[in-house]
Amino acid sequence: MNPMGWIVAWLKRWKGLPAGRVEDRRCAQAAGGPWHPPAQPNAVGKFSGRSATFRVGWLIDGSGGPIRQGVRLDIMDGILHRITEGSATSRSSFEAPNDPAGDLSECTVLPGLVDSHVHLAMTGSMDDGQRLRLRQAPVEVVFRTIQENLREHLRCGVVAVRDGGGARGNALRFAKGPGRRTDPAIRIFAAGRAWHRHGRYGRFIGRSPVDGLRLAESIVQDDSPCDLVKIVNSGVNSLTEFGRRTAPQFSLEEMTAAVQACGRKGLPVMVHANGEEPVGIAIGAGCRSVEHGFFMGPENLRRLAESGVVWVPTVVPMHAYGRKQDPSDRRAQVARRSVDHQMEQLQRARLLNVTVALGTDSGSPGVDHGAAVVDEMKLLVAAGFSLAEAVRCASFNGAGLVGGGFGLLAEGRPATFAAVPGDPSGLPDSLRHVRAVYVDGERVVAAG
Ligand SMILES: [Zn+2]
Repeated sequence: MNPMGWIVAWLKRWKGLPAGRVEDRRCAQAAGGPWHPPAQPNAVGKFSGRSATFRVGWLIDGSGGPIRQGVRLDIMDGILHRITEGSATSRSSFEAPNDPAGDLSECTVLPGLVDSHVHLAMTGSMDDGQRLRLRQAPVEVVFRTIQENLREHLRCGVVAVRDGGGARGNALRFAKGPGRRTDPAIRIFAAGRAWHRHGRYGRFIGRSPVDGLRLAESIVQDDSPCDLVKIVNSGVNSLTEFGRRTAPQFSLEEMTAAVQACGRKGLPVMVHANGEEPVGIAIGAGCRSVEHGFFMGPENLRRLAESGVVWVPTVVPMHAYGRKQDPSDRRAQVARRSVDHQMEQLQRARLLNVTVALGTDSGSPGVDHGAAVVDEMKLLVAAGFSLAEAVRCASFNGAGLVGGGFGLLAEGRPATFAAVPGDPSGLPDSLRHVRAVYVDGERVVAAG
C-alpha cells in the first residue's frame, strides 16, 4: 500500500473510544476531549524502530468489553497499527514474530495500568518508626525509595501513577527534577503538597493556605510545577467509631473558587473526602475526582454518575488494616465493617455507571506499592465488577484522569501493555508475575 493509502486506512481504522457506553465519552470529555493520535508516519511513510508483531493468547483491551482469544498485534513505531482476531487469523496462520519476545500466545495482554492514588515518598511498612524515619530522611534517601517504589509498580504492570502528595512535596520534586534517573517508563502525575485547613487533617501530606489568604488565593500564588492539585476536605475514617463523619474543611464557596482558580491554571483537582457533606461539596465544586469517598451515601453516588466526576475508592488500606491487625481488635472490626460498606457503595456505583478509577493509596500502612494494585483489583471484582471492568478501572479510566492515549488497546493507540502468564482466570494474581511490560512499543520489563 502506498504511504497515502496507508494513512487513509489507518485513519479509518482508528477508533477514538470504545463504542457503546456513555461513560466512555464522558470520561474522555472530562479528561479534556478525546485523545488524538500522534502525527503519523513521516513524509515517506516509513517507520523506525519499536515495530513488532505479537501473537497474543488473550487480550483484555481496557474498554470493559469481552475478552478476546487468539489475537495478533501489529505495532508500528510504538503505535498499535492493527489488531487481528478470529478464525481467519488462527494461530497457525500467524507469521512468525520478528522478535522472540513477540510470542505471547501463552499470555494474557492487558493495557499498562494506572494507579490513580499513590504516595511515592512513603513506604507501605506497618512499622511506625520506619515510616517516621523516611518522612525525616534526606532527600537523596527519599528519592531512592521513590525509585524502588516505581520499580515495584512497574513489576506489576503499572505504567503511570497519580501522586496524592506529601508534606515536603518530594514526589513532585523527583518527577520534575532534571536529574531524574529512573525508569522513565512510568509516568508520574504529582500534586506536590496537598492543601488542608490549618489545624485539620492533612499536615503530613501538605500545607494549609497562607496566613490571611483564602484557599483559592493561595493556590494562585503557588508556583510549584505540579500536574494536579490535591485538596483535603474531610478527616480520615475513624477506626474506633464505625461511620463517624467529619465536618468539611472547606465550604462549597471556598472549594468552588479553588477549583476555578486551578482551572485557570489548567490543573485538575483531586479531593480527599469522606462522608456526605465533604463529598457533596467536592462534586458541587466541579472537582476532577473524589478520593476515598467512604460513607458518601447514595445521593452523592447519583451525582457522581450525572456529573462524570471520577471516584477513586481506595478500599485496600482499610482492608489491609482489617486483615493484618489482631482479629479481636475492635479497630480491626471497625475497619472490616467500613470495607463492607465501601463494597456496597461500589456495587451501587457500578449499577449507576459511575466512572471508577483504581487507586490504592499505596504508601499507607500495610499498602505496598505495586502489589496493592493487585489487591485493589481483587476487591473491585469482589464488589461485583467483571474482570474486564476492573481492568478498565485500572487502565482506561485511570488514563482518563491523567490524559494520554494509553490505557486502551485499540488501533491507533500507543502500544503500552503488560503481558501476564496464562489465561485470564489467573488475574488479578498473575499481575504479580508479569512477563513483560511495553511502553510505546518498547520493552521496559522482561521476566527473568
Ligand atoms: Zn492518599
